[in-house]
Amino acid sequence: MTVAAATKLRLASPPEHVFPRLTPEQIDRVAAFGSRRRVDEGEVVLEIGESGKVFVVTAGSLATVRMVGDVEETIVTHGVGSFTGEVAVLSGQRGLARNRACEAGELIEVDRSRLMALVQTDSELSDIFMRAFILRRLEIIARGSTDLVLLGSRHSAGTLRIKEFLTRNAQPMTYIDLEQDADVHEMLDRFHVGVADLPVLILGGRTVLHNPTDERIAEYLGLSVPLDSAQVRDTVILGAGPAGLAAAVYGASEGLDVLVVESRAPGGQAGSSSRIENYLGFPTGISGQDLAARAYTQAQKFGAQVIVARKARALHCERRPFSVELDDGSTVSARTIIIATGASYRKLAIPDLARFEGAGVYYAATPMEAQLCRGEDVIVVGGGNSAGQAAIFLAQSVRRVYVLVRAAGLAETMSRYLVRRIEQSPSIELRTRTEIVALEGVDRLQAVCWRDTQTMAAERRAVGHVFVMTGADPATRWLADSVALDDKGFIKTGPALTRDDLAAARWPGTRPPHHLETSLPGVFAVGDVRGGNLKRVASAVGEGSTAIGFVHQVLKE
Ligand SMILES: Cc1cc2nc3c(=O)[nH]c(=O)nc-3n(C[C@H](O)[C@H](O)[C@H](O)COP(=O)(O)OP(=O)(O)OC[C@H]3O[C@@H](n4cnc5c(N)ncnc54)[C@H](O)[C@@H]3O)c2cc1C
Repeated sequence: MTVAAATKLRLASPPEHVFPRLTPEQIDRVAAFGSRRRVDEGEVVLEIGESGKVFVVTAGSLATVRMVGDVEETIVTHGVGSFTGEVAVLSGQRGLARNRACEAGELIEVDRSRLMALVQTDSELSDIFMRAFILRRLEIIARGSTDLVLLGSRHSAGTLRIKEFLTRNAQPMTYIDLEQDADVHEMLDRFHVGVADLPVLILGGRTVLHNPTDERIAEYLGLSVPLDSAQVRDTVILGAGPAGLAAAVYGASEGLDVLVVESRAPGGQAGSSSRIENYLGFPTGISGQDLAARAYTQAQKFGAQVIVARKARALHCERRPFSVELDDGSTVSARTIIIATGASYRKLAIPDLARFEGAGVYYAATPMEAQLCRGEDVIVVGGGNSAGQAAIFLAQSVRRVYVLVRAAGLAETMSRYLVRRIEQSPSIELRTRTEIVALEGVDRLQAVCWRDTQTMAAERRAVGHVFVMTGADPATRWLADSVALDDKGFIKTGPALTRDDLAAARWPGTRPPHHLETSLPGVFAVGDVRGGNLKRVASAVGEGSTAIGFVHQVLKE
């Protein structure tokens, strides 16, 4: 297949963006960062699984191929001016394809560190390379053009976990379901795997991993690498939600040596949002995953190192440099630390909840959500002030608000003024000792079943909007008592720290804590994990970037 033929693949994006051709003048600029080499016909210049380099074709042509069984299938052929690679090159992840010369010719080979230097210094080439890399990864995901195969069953928790881990980490894969796919038994025989061994992950048609942990998958795919505990980073960022990624982008772009440690996948809570419509600059909205993938690539472009499936489990800040202990027992050293571990909304224990998140189940009641359910019936779950505020706010525009609480009433948990307003509102109906037991719908929520917890009598209502306002738990348990927390477990920073907090932490007293600084000098907290934060993507991003300003000040001390 030629480049022209590749365009016939009906690419979702303009072909000239996915497979651009560099001009002779642009090729000369790339050449300053790489080395020219001759290739013979049929020569393999990059194997599947290898990564860390790109090739620009200056004579002849180079095919990018994948393996289908034992047969090579050409994904695209790069002619003169075209270049290889996709986002894996920047992150050092396992490469997904092989590059083979179709004929004798000449290439410019650029390795990862020189490519980073190129994209950081040449804005025109940076645009061309970065856009092509991101679009190519999206094409690979959309087409399932990958040698990563997951065999499993949709009724197995292990399968769902692996599928979610790969999807949230933007790893293209082919999924074969035991229940639905006739080919699965042939695959199982081929790899000598029994049904009881599922789920299995097959890489490159050879390596078979049986129900691998997230950590093991991350190691195989190059998403996580062993860390050098002796290397002292300017800042170690814990958590790669919007706050952590923003800190990484600003820190790395301002020349800091940045490491980000993420326990699951970049994007955090925002990554689970199907459409974020209130983030500046995206008038038609952007999916949380898309936003996270862009920020992740942007952080790597500036040289931040991001590892996933590794969890921070303790801070050791008695002496400098600080040390962060990870869940595998390894440690990383840092001059400053930014805690961006976020929070998780308390979820309802209902089957299929995840399927309706963003499609009828919401964790915030803002004008955006209110618009979605104008004139309809809605349910608010929870008996705290946030649930009360949501019910009163929604009652202004919807037909009926059912407030469901497990307790016998609201008096114990909600402010009196809110209870009174709920009682006085003709469109709010309080259901005490009630819990949701099932959600129904095809593409989005269409009906809800709830039951009275005393009589066990169940009711089914055609309600398409459920607001879960049962509070959020900050991800701070791992910190034990190393930094001061508020009464809900969120991290106290700056002006929120009392004299007693600072005395207990033995604050040195030469200056007051910076706005986002915790009770430990040089340790910052940003985003949802911080007490007083607004719990929005924009505030997380704002705080992540602001923290870098304070990091510079601390590094100068
Ligand atoms: C379904 C849903 C929809 C939403 N929609 C919107 C919206 O439309 N608009 C809006 O403004 N806001 C929305 N929000 C809120 C918004 O997503 C959050 O405010 C934002 O993600 C907070 O960012 P953060 O980086 O502070 O924390 P998080 O997003 O919570 O990220 C924290 C990260 O830290 C990682 N982590 C946790 N513990 C550790 C550890 N010990 N070591 C290493 N890593 C760790 C987690 O895996 C996670 O990736 C939504 C939230 C949800 C759940």
